[in-house]
Amino acid sequence: MEIILANPRGFCAGVERAIEIVERSLKIHGAPVYVRHEVVHNKFVVNNLKSKGVIFVEEIQQVPKGGVVIFSAHGVSKAVHKQAKDIGAIIYDATCPLVTKVHKEIVRKQKQDYSIVLIGHKEHPEIEGTMGQTSPDKVIKIVENLEDVKNLELDNENISYSTQTTLSVKDTKVIIEALKKKFPKIQSPKKEDICYATQNRQNAVEETIKEADLMLVIGSNNSSNSNRLREIADKKNIPAYLIDDFNQIKSSWLKNVNKIGITAGASAPETLVKDVINYLKGKGVNKIKEIKSTEENVHFPLPKELQNK
Ligand code: SF4
Repeated sequence: MEIILANPRGFCAGVERAIEIVERSLKIHGAPVYVRHEVVHNKFVVNNLKSKGVIFVEEIQQVPKGGVVIFSAHGVSKAVHKQAKDIGAIIYDATCPLVTKVHKEIVRKQKQDYSIVLIGHKEHPEIEGTMGQTSPDKVIKIVENLEDVKNLELDNENISYSTQTTLSVKDTKVIIEALKKKFPKIQSPKKEDICYATQNRQNAVEETIKEADLMLVIGSNNSSNSNRLREIADKKNIPAYLIDDFNQIKSSWLKNVNKIGITAGASAPETLVKDVINYLKGKGVNKIKEIKSTEENVHFPLPKELQNK
């Protein structure tokens, strides 16, 4: 058997930055530090940080007064920011700068009296955080699919759309086309909201499945971008599985398979990829090939207060 490794895969610049923020705040303040929501959607990363003294909470009310609070890479609403301030918390914001870009875009458009259509998954924390940037008197509607576009009613002439950063590029394109058809004057964001890491990982899977007859995506169930990677192979009728680690690989998946494609979502560390490769070597893999579709060189600076610490 042969492994075909997708490249780019795994950690993006936003995830690296978020984890580094947690690590540095631990170093400065000592345990416990509180992270609102999983800092990134990956079980291995979360468990590793828990073992170092991080406490993950869903509500700021779970944080003691004056505690250290870190906001996850997905971003938080203005209300959550305020709650943390009100309890005198020491706040570090690990929101990915590319999510912050979407927040700023929406606030800017609402100031110009635009109604906003936000394309994304209603239950995802990024969408909750983005919705929470807006004023209650302004219109913002979430659409997830074509049915939502069909049912969408807006009486404002000025409409603009934004998207979640981790969506399927292809599916979103179809939704945007439908929106443009229904609202011909709708304005696009200045720069694409689906982030570079999501786009690059999806392109890399497209290349990998040209050769692979099984696709393994390393990532957790609640990771949006990892799920989208699995779906790409699925839509091409290539068996594809989302796995947290090598323990979840079933021998039956490997039957009659010659080429195993492997990728990892933006929140999954490379160590998990290495474990999967080693496991598969034990199952008869004797060749590894990597398909590099893009060179990535993105790095986001840490918040000023954590630099040089
Ligand atoms: S997937 Fe994209 S938006 Fe999300 S943390 Fe990574 S770079 Fe930022």
